[in-house]
Amino acid sequence: MYDCIIFGAGPAGLAAAFAAVENGADTLLVERAGFVGGMSTEGMINVFCGDASCALYNDIYKKLIRRIGHRKVYDTEALKAYYLEHIQAIRLRLLLHARFLDAKVADGKIESVRILENAGIRELRARTYIDATGNGDVAYSCGVPFTLGRESDGVMQPVTVYVRIGGIDTPAYMEHVGNEREELQRKLTCAGERGELAPEACALRLIPDFHDGFINLNMTNSLNTDGTSSEELTRAELNCRAQIPAILRFIRGNVRGCANAFVVQTGAYAGIRESRHFHGAYTLHEDDLSAGRVFDDWCVSRADNQFNIHNLTGAGADRTSQECAKRYTIPFRSLEPQGISNLLLAGRNISGTHMAHGSYRVMPICMAMGQAAGTAAALITRNARDDFAALDIHALQTVLLEQGVEKPDDETVS
Ligand SMILES: Cc1cc2nc3c(=O)[nH]c(=O)nc-3n(C[C@H](O)[C@H](O)[C@H](O)COP(=O)(O)OP(=O)(O)OC[C@H]3O[C@@H](n4cnc5c(N)ncnc54)[C@H](O)[C@@H]3O)c2cc1C
Repeated sequence: MYDCIIFGAGPAGLAAAFAAVENGADTLLVERAGFVGGMSTEGMINVFCGDASCALYNDIYKKLIRRIGHRKVYDTEALKAYYLEHIQAIRLRLLLHARFLDAKVADGKIESVRILENAGIRELRARTYIDATGNGDVAYSCGVPFTLGRESDGVMQPVTVYVRIGGIDTPAYMEHVGNEREELQRKLTCAGERGELAPEACALRLIPDFHDGFINLNMTNSLNTDGTSSEELTRAELNCRAQIPAILRFIRGNVRGCANAFVVQTGAYAGIRESRHFHGAYTLHEDDLSAGRVFDDWCVSRADNQFNIHNLTGAGADRTSQECAKRYTIPFRSLEPQGISNLLLAGRNISGTHMAHGSYRVMPICMAMGQAAGTAAALITRNARDDFAALDIHALQTVLLEQGVEKPDDETVS
C-alpha cells in the first residue's frame, strides 16, 4: 500500500512525484514508456511556453534553458537526464513500461488499480492517486464525467508529430526567418494552394534548436483527431508523417541556410494537444484567466500564457491568440474530479473550458499543477486521511510558499 500512486511521468506527473516524495509521501510513479518526460522529452517539444511559479520549472530554467529571442529552448536529452538524476537523488520509486489499465471504485473512492506490465496484470493500492496521463485514463476509468474538446461541437486542437531537422546553416537561417517570416508564410500558403503541401501543414512553425545546426518543425497536423482513440491516432500518425517530405522540400527550396536540411528524428508519437476536460469541483473559465482572478483556494500562482488554439478545422493557422490580461491562479477545486475523493487531476486534463485549456496546457503551468497535487497528497497522508475534501487548503498554500512558489500577484481574493 503506497501513500500515493501517480500515473504518467510527463511534466505534471514528474512535478507531482517530486513534490510528493520531498514532502514525505511513499510514492510510486508509473509510466507506460521506457523513459520519463512525456511531451517534454519523447514528444520532442523543446521550448517552454508561458510561465508559472513552480519549484521544478524554476530549477530547470536556471540549469537548462537557452534564451533564443523570446523563446526558452532546451535540449530534450539533457532534460531527460536531469529528470532521471533527480529521480535517483530523491529515491523516487519509478515503474517504467507499465500502463494504467483500470480502477476499482467503491463509495466514491478508488480501492485499487490494475496496471499492465510486460509480465501481465498487477493490482496496486494507495491512499491517494494522481492522474497525470494527459488523456486522463484514470479519471475516465473511474467514470468521472468529461467534455471532449470544444464545448459547442467537440472539435479538438490538432495532433502533431514534431520533427527535428539537421544540416542548417544557423546564421543564414536566423537572418532569413527573422527578417522575412511574413514573406515565407506567404510562399508556404501559395505552395499549399498549388497542392504541393497538405493545407493543414501550411503554418510556418519553425522552432530554433538548443544546438546550432538544427531546427524543429511544429508543422505537421492532423485535424479532427480524437487522441483517446487508437484508430484515430493511427490515422493521425500516418497523416502527419506523410506530410514531412513535402515540408522538408519546401524548407530546402525556400528558407536560406536550409538547402542541405535532413530529418534527424521525429517524435516518438503524435502529440495530443487536447482531449478530455474532466468535470471538477470548479471548471476554470477563460474569463477567470483574462481577469487574472486570484482564487481563495489557489494552488497554482502566477500562471501566464496566451490563449493558444491551433488550427481547429481549416487550413493554416487559424489560431485564436490573445494575451491573458494578467497572470492568473488555478484553484485546487479544478484538480478535484467530480465523484472520486482520493484522486487528483494534474496537467492538461484538469477541469477547464476548451479556451482556458488553450492557455494552461503549456508545460510550466502543468508542472505547477503537479507540484500542488503531489504536495496535497503528502499533506493528506500526514494527516492519515485519504480524501482531498479534508485538505486544509491554507496549509497547502503555506507549504507551497515555503517551497519557493511565489504569492499570487494580487492579494484580492474572489
Ligand atoms: C505538438 C505539441 C506542441 C506543443 N508545444 C509546446 C511548447 O512549445 N511549449 C510548451 O510549454 N507546451 C507545449 N505543448 C503542450 C504541452 O507539451 C502539454 O500540454 C504538456 O506536456 C502536458 O503535460 P502532461 O504532463 O499533462 O501530459 P504529457 O506531457 O502528455 O505526459 C503524460 C504522460 O503520461 C504517460 N501516460 C499516458 N497514458 C498512460 C497510462 N495509461 N499509463 C501510464 N502512463 C501513461 C505518457 O506516456 C506521458 O509520459 C505542446 C503540445 C503538443 C501536443
